[in-house]
Amino acid sequence: MSDHSVYDAIVVGGGVEGTAAAENLSKRPGTKVLLLEQFPLPHSRGSSHGQTRITRRAYTDAFYTRMMDFCTKYWTNLQDASGKTIFRQVGYMAIGAIGGDFLNENIHCMTVNQAPYTLLSSGDFRRKYPMLSYGDNVGCLLDHDGGVLMADKALLAMQKSFVSHGGTLRDGELVRRLVPGKIVQVHTDKGSYRGKSVVLCCGPWTNQFLAHLNIRLPLKPIRISVCYWREQTRDSHSPSHLPTFYDHKCCDGHSIYGVPSLEYPGSSPLP
Ligand SMILES: Cc1cc2nc3c(=O)[nH]c(=O)nc-3n(C[C@H](O)[C@H](O)[C@H](O)COP(=O)(O)OP(=O)(O)OC[C@H]3O[C@@H](n4cnc5c(N)ncnc54)[C@H](O)[C@@H]3O)c2cc1C
Repeated sequence: MSDHSVYDAIVVGGGVEGTAAAENLSKRPGTKVLLLEQFPLPHSRGSSHGQTRITRRAYTDAFYTRMMDFCTKYWTNLQDASGKTIFRQVGYMAIGAIGGDFLNENIHCMTVNQAPYTLLSSGDFRRKYPMLSYGDNVGCLLDHDGGVLMADKALLAMQKSFVSHGGTLRDGELVRRLVPGKIVQVHTDKGSYRGKSVVLCCGPWTNQFLAHLNIRLPLKPIRISVCYWREQTRDSHSPSHLPTFYDHKCCDGHSIYGVPSLEYPGSSPLP
């Protein structure tokens, strides 16, 4: 197709990053935004697929903790506008050695940002969550604002909001190349567009896409294994009753994330 209009912004990639960028841009009055996605939506080939993601304020970098002020309001507004449950505030646990760098950095980030948390000693941790089995020197920081983001619902709600704010969404359209300039030309497998700016949110496809511009970013896509563990009990000690969690370098240097059993009831995903 041929589209002779000039967009204020053209966003490439309809994962969570591209969709959020396009949706936020479309809310600026008078801003004309085009979002291009190579696969028909929804699709399961990018990083943003699936039903659940952990969201939290406890990080080892205070910038992320601060950013969550914006995100929490954003998810709440999206939830109100869509009428769907997008966020479940079940809490988040940062698990690590008492006195170790990981827990200390989490405490620091929460404290400087005045975010609410509870620090559990190893004894309290074991008593509160007997379904987990940890030794004497392991405790946790409980981030009360953390929880589960219903990822597929959030993505759909953002796409709907984008379109309702006047944005143009074209899925099943692969962007093949850009011609840089004051007005950027964007050529796809179906047509050409012009934009005053282009936002690239191609996720793992980034370097593949940038090759025609002779640009290579220091990015390394990695495959992430998601394991689903069958629950052993269904009482109050069941993994379903856990907050989300992250256990830092617990297993031969590998880390484990845990999410309550929402995606496949009866099993708990540990990406
Ligand atoms: C298993 C797993 C578990 C995770 N758990 C968490 C978690 O609990 N909490 C958390 O915060 N994060 C988590 N993450 C990370 C988070 O999901 C990603 O950071 C996020 O989804 C990245 O989104 P994205 O939009 O950058 O990438 P993607 O979702 O991969 O989107 C990129 C999009 O660009 C499109 N595209 C690429 N090239 C082109 C082109 N040339 N033309 C048109 N379209 C193009 C692709 O088709 C794709 O849709 C997890 C990731 C995985 C894989």
